Amino acid sequence: MGTSLQRGIQSLIEQIDAPVATFFTTCVHCGLCADACLFYTETQDPKYTPIYKLAPMRRVWQQNFTFWGKLMAKLGLSKPVTDAELAEWEPLVYDSCTLCGRCSMVCPVGNDITYMVRKMREGMVASGHAPDGLKEATQRAIELGGPMGLTIKTLQAHFRHTKQETGLTVPLDQEGADYLLVLSSAEIADFSEIFSAVTRIFHHTGVSWTMASDGFEATNSGIQIGSSDLAAELVNRIVKAAERLKVKYVISPECGHAYTALRWEGPNLIGRPYPFKVVHIIELLDQLRAAGRLRTEGMDETRMTFHDPCQMVRRGGVINQPRNLLNMVAPNFVEMPEAGMQNWCCGGGGGVSANARADELRLKVFSKKKAQLDAVNVKTLVTSCSNCRNMLLDGLEHNHMPQEVVGLTELIAAHLAPVEK
Ligand code: SF4
Ligand code: SF4
Repeated sequence: MGTSLQRGIQSLIEQIDAPVATFFTTCVHCGLCADACLFYTETQDPKYTPIYKLAPMRRVWQQNFTFWGKLMAKLGLSKPVTDAELAEWEPLVYDSCTLCGRCSMVCPVGNDITYMVRKMREGMVASGHAPDGLKEATQRAIELGGPMGLTIKTLQAHFRHTKQETGLTVPLDQEGADYLLVLSSAEIADFSEIFSAVTRIFHHTGVSWTMASDGFEATNSGIQIGSSDLAAELVNRIVKAAERLKVKYVISPECGHAYTALRWEGPNLIGRPYPFKVVHIIELLDQLRAAGRLRTEGMDETRMTFHDPCQMVRRGGVINQPRNLLNMVAPNFVEMPEAGMQNWCCGGGGGVSANARADELRLKVFSKKKAQLDAVNVKTLVTSCSNCRNMLLDGLEHNHMPQEVVGLTELIAAHLAPVEK
């Protein structure tokens, strides 16, 4: 057995914890998870059935943890997992899973298949079977600070533009501020209007905040590729910056996986609790709304709908907050079919959109979002994840659809009431 295959199998064995073992034991092969996964519903190809994507890991579990599996392996009736098999499964584990969590919601015996895919990726990456795009993004994140290689100089250019546009200064390295804001690469590179939006909102609401020169990047490629070690290193950068600046809260930006990495996986990854709390930007805006500090004026009469980012809504529980905010400024807001917890993924999360090999597939399965949008006939599609936003733009363009895509934070910023003196 080659060394990398050995490492991969060993890593898969190490990933088989009590929940994974229980999930494999209790699976009743009902196939309900297939109809929850857009990669299956939009292709009708049975290989995209969520639980099938884990077949090599299931065999590793059987052969190492079950009496019959061990016996069958001894009798040669159950073949060892091979390198060729892992190579064959790589596109199933990476290209056709966005870690959206929809399959886990419908499984009648409560199997968290998404958790298992995340675990399987640990074995895949250890055996060298991860997509090039994700490997390169992870390497850039470790060496340069972020998957796009953005530096503090890029941020400082945005700070200057924000000052010109708003007259306000983005605070940097302000020790003792209440909130530390981190941003995703996609926001910084593709949707830089976020800088003036948050700066104006925090000025309007009187929030004490800062950014950190040594911890501004929230994207966690380690989570996407499936490497807990790398994910921990990236989380640690933010934790150290937050501790250095002695903030009470870290604000997770409009990026779904950044939120999952920082809020839900982070303390386990680094092996200790945080001395601060993590809040999603949309949660914070809604808290400020509820406290009467976020006040808007004027309405946008455009007919619009909201795309629920999977990590923020289904996996993260931030469901009502975006709707509370939309109701402040959008009287013609309508829900798309299956909105909220059961909404369908954009098709580009979980590292899929960073993996060029998956481009054709992710655009194909956008047919699900297209059908949802066709049902509501809106002019504007609002969302609160920069990765979703890029995928939605790609999908709309691919399908020659006319809708514009808007970030929720920016929509709110466009309607801020004057600052009270
Ligand atoms: S997490 Fe989402 S994309 Fe992945 S297998 Fe489940 S339903 Fe499909
Ligand atoms: S829905 Fe659950 S029990 Fe049914 S096949 Fe999928 S994982 Fe197994």
